[in-house]
Amino acid sequence: AQVTQAEFIKSSVRTEDCPSDGLPEFALVGRSNVGKSSLLNSLVRRKRLALISKKPGKTQCINHFRVNDSWYLVDLPGYGYAAAPQELRTDWAKFTKDYFLNRSTLVSVFLLIDASIPAKKIDLEYASWLGQNQIPMTLIFTKCDKRKKKKNGGKRPEENVSDFQELIRGFFETAPPWIMTSSVTNQGRDEILLHVAQLRNY
Ligand code: GDP
Repeated sequence: AQVTQAEFIKSSVRTEDCPSDGLPEFALVGRSNVGKSSLLNSLVRRKRLALISKKPGKTQCINHFRVNDSWYLVDLPGYGYAAAPQELRTDWAKFTKDYFLNRSTLVSVFLLIDASIPAKKIDLEYASWLGQNQIPMTLIFTKCDKRKKKKNGGKRPEENVSDFQELIRGFFETAPPWIMTSSVTNQGRDEILLHVAQLRNY
């Protein structure tokens, strides 16, 4: 599995405005600072492409990137942004939930979780909501290159990963697939592309 072509297609503010060509899509979502743009960049190997979603006016949008002319990688706004006013957070929740529930071409939500720190309540709540609504999800653990630090609870990424899986076990009938990644070493990059290829053949 290789990315031979990747291009930015459009930013949408509503699910109805998303591309209508029916290509399968995979949506990246996670707490702000989880490493979402770094991962996007590592997947498409084009720094400038990943920066598009960070431009003013686009951070709150559904950003569609078409890969190999055959599927979409969708960048959704990050959540858990402490500085955001409550009103904006409520809007965000409504808007992304509408996308998750109504986007018929959505194959899987790639929920990004920082493996260098212990589980955060907001990530657990997020996973719980996806599970309750039976939205297909893949856990993408980020920053797996980071070594343990005392201030991070002293756990290795592998330990944080298994703790997280244990904590969300009750939310899903079958445990969601998961991939460990690092944008520094490109760990997990091929695995994600292989995973996409497998899911698309369903
Ligand atoms: P976003 O807000 O989710 O888009 O996060 P960014 O991609 O901007 O990354 C947030 C911070 O985490 C930056 O300082 C990155 O350099 C760092 N970061 C992102 N991915 C990794 C990773 O895989 N390993 C390490 N060590 N740091 C990372």
